[in-house]
Amino acid sequence: MPVNSDTGSKPKVPSFLNTGNKTSKGHPDKTNFMFIEPHFGKSPEDKAGWIEVICGSMFSGKTEELIRRLNRALIARQQVEIFKPKMDTRYDDTNVVSHDENTIRSTPVQFATEILLLSGNCDVVGIDEAQFFNDDLIEVCTKLSNAGKRVIVAGLDMDFEGKPFGPMPYLLAMAEFVTKVHAICIKCGNVATYSYRLTNQKDKVVLGESEKYEARCRNCFFEDD
Ligand code: ZN
Repeated sequence: MPVNSDTGSKPKVPSFLNTGNKTSKGHPDKTNFMFIEPHFGKSPEDKAGWIEVICGSMFSGKTEELIRRLNRALIARQQVEIFKPKMDTRYDDTNVVSHDENTIRSTPVQFATEILLLSGNCDVVGIDEAQFFNDDLIEVCTKLSNAGKRVIVAGLDMDFEGKPFGPMPYLLAMAEFVTKVHAICIKCGNVATYSYRLTNQKDKVVLGESEKYEARCRNCFFEDD
């Protein structure tokens, strides 16, 4: 691993995430990791759809990244519809709301199959908190993308035990484009990929935020086992 010449300490960002480029302020340039749309084309011969998955632990910025992509589609004058499971009422009933309070209007649905009925003529379908839907979501995303739509799915890739969550592993396998975003470990400052539950509840789904979960790296997640 390269050594930071200023301090002699090892950089916290793993080398595989570091492009080597620096911004004017000396920070690592992350723009090279940013997802760029393959095209916004809508010509008749250009009707191929696809699936994008944005995954990661809690506090990793999944929803922020989903909103960024959907806003770009809106700027490109595309018709966008956004859905989230009805059970996720942590912030607001009708908005996809991320932690930085950057919001975008969404439709809460109880079942994944409702998304098929409600997405109509739109170009882009965004789905947030996808891990809470059942496996019907896999067929729904397949049908939408086969019908020429761009489908952007954001969700937790792993549950509080570090196991693949709901339909996410299938969607990760089927997607054309996968982005794994990372949080920062609250214990040691390394890159975090796990959602550590602070309570003793054993249910797979326990809604909560920083009062119930913290982002942890592999070492800190498994150290209490
Ligand atoms: Zn750690």
